[in-house]
Amino acid sequence: MAKIRMDTPIVEMDGDEMTRILWKWIKEILIEPYVELNTVYFDLGLPHRDETADRVTVEAAEATKRYGVAVKCATITPNRQRVSEYNLHEMWKSPNGTIRRILDGTVFRSPILAKGITPYVPAWKQPIVLARHAYGDIYNAVDDVCAAGDKAYLVVEGKDGTVRKKLIHEFKESGGVVQGMHNADASIASFARSCFRYALDVHMPMLFATKDTISKIYDGQFKEIFNRIYEEEFKAAFEEAGIWYLYTPIDDAVARIIRSEGGILWACKNYDGDVMSDMVATAYGSLGMMKSVLVSPDGKYEFEAAHGTVTRHYYKYLQGETTSTNSVATIFAWTGALQKRGELDGNAALQEFAERLEKATIETIEAGEMTGDLIPLFRSDVEPKKLDSRAFLERVASRL
Ligand code: NAP
Ligand code: MG
Repeated sequence: MAKIRMDTPIVEMDGDEMTRILWKWIKEILIEPYVELNTVYFDLGLPHRDETADRVTVEAAEATKRYGVAVKCATITPNRQRVSEYNLHEMWKSPNGTIRRILDGTVFRSPILAKGITPYVPAWKQPIVLARHAYGDIYNAVDDVCAAGDKAYLVVEGKDGTVRKKLIHEFKESGGVVQGMHNADASIASFARSCFRYALDVHMPMLFATKDTISKIYDGQFKEIFNRIYEEEFKAAFEEAGIWYLYTPIDDAVARIIRSEGGILWACKNYDGDVMSDMVATAYGSLGMMKSVLVSPDGKYEFEAAHGTVTRHYYKYLQGETTSTNSVATIFAWTGALQKRGELDGNAALQEFAERLEKATIETIEAGEMTGDLIPLFRSDVEPKKLDSRAFLERVASRL
């Protein structure tokens, strides 16, 4: 066949460890034979981030603003252990955090469903789409260690020179820790708007939850902004679409989600979204089946898998062992980006290719051919067969 052309490039952000290996294979086995792949390539692998003093991450995010569509491989967020493992100059910040900040976007995560993969919560029949507020709270917090005898205050200097000071804690017999964090009304409001819009787009009811019963001022502000924007800007459209919006404390939201059939958009604060998205992903089967898209308020998209670099598998791979790492979410990151590029450019062939690749991937699993993480979850008349990472991609290619 003649390869499908791409007039406009997508931004390609390479990553680390096992997912970097899968990345190369996905391109080689599933995309490059069929598509004249046109990407602007950035190597976000940790060694290159370190060489460029993390400049490459900023450049990749800026390129995403220019080209509008990006696909990203999972990357290591360094901690102390990584600093010595990779001999880093600095403990570089999370690339995802940097990209989110630059794009001011909202992250929507949803599970990829296949017949035979039963969620751990059997009532869940449809995807739960999780929206994570990608700004502020503990992710941009200031921390300190306090000794016994220290007093910690929250101090706000008004622009008129007034000073407000509240005692956080007086450390008497024991030292401890303090943390100062913030959020911005503008960011909360654009998060709320993205969520309400996306709920209307995908035609799903929407839950938003915080811990405002305890955090009356901080979380109370989130609740108020969401409720105001809903009443003023979205209530009529929701009623017309026949979908609902509910604010409820986070504890109640968790109970409702577990009892639901899915088919709900769940908007979460930054930390709740971080944790709950991993819980929901695991409950749907495997982290390898969770996809993720960062959408900016002005409509720029960055597609990725929700999972990390699968370090444990990578160490095996380095020892020459074959691994059975699930590449589905990374494949769907590519198809998401190609499909969006096709949609924006009016490139029907590219869109159709993305759809076919998704279909071939799902059908491979439904036919019983899958990676090891899915085997214990698979309930079907077909006997499941465990494939290694590369063999799975080759089975998808033969269907494609
Ligand atoms: P992880 O890479 O998501 O892996 C955790 C475990 O989940 C794996 O050991 C594996 O379980 C299972 N798993 C995840 N993805 C899988 C897949 N595709 N196929 C099969 N099994 C899969 O999380 P982590 O080990 O906590 O983090 C590793 C590195 O990734 C860290 O350096 C972290 O900073 C980074 N990270 C990056 C991102 C991102 O770029 N978006 C997100 C999260 C973490 P078994 O070992 O039991 O097989
Ligand atoms: Mg997480």
